[in-house]
Amino acid sequence: MSALIQTVPGRACGSCTLCCRLPEIEEFSKPANDWCGHCEPGRGCRIYDTRPGLCRDFFCRYITDAGMSEIWAPEISHMMVYDQGPQITVLVDPDHQAIWGSSPYLEELERWALEAESSGGYVIVYFGDHLTKIEPRRSA
Ligand code: SF4
Ligand code: SF4
Repeated sequence: MSALIQTVPGRACGSCTLCCRLPEIEEFSKPANDWCGHCEPGRGCRIYDTRPGLCRDFFCRYITDAGMSEIWAPEISHMMVYDQGPQITVLVDPDHQAIWGSSPYLEELERWALEAESSGGYVIVYFGDHLTKIEPRRSA
């Protein structure tokens, strides 16, 4: 764990291993949505003590942002969320592809898009072979 990364007290990855599956990881030549070869799904990393720096330094927003409610726990939402510059990236578990468009997730994503807009930010959801930019929600 990087000393520079603040995590939310009481939150831990537990048995979630979504970030070992959903993102493309160029360093490992790992395509998006394929398990990393070092991962034991639902248990964790087989090379935890010697895992690469990029794995040590990565935490999704649920772990680092107290503003993310419990519905965004990746094991509940089946999504992992992280920041890439101005982009809020949302990767959706391919086994639960439609969940991002359901309530309350879509409304939350639209709210994030509105909040991000003022500083040039935006929200992109990746699901299956598709991606979509979330339109800001301007009404309650
Ligand atoms: S997606 Fe988030 S909660 Fe799940 S293992 Fe990765 S950092 Fe931890
Ligand atoms: S090396 Fe370990 S922590 Fe990094 S992606 Fe693979 S299984 Fe996950």
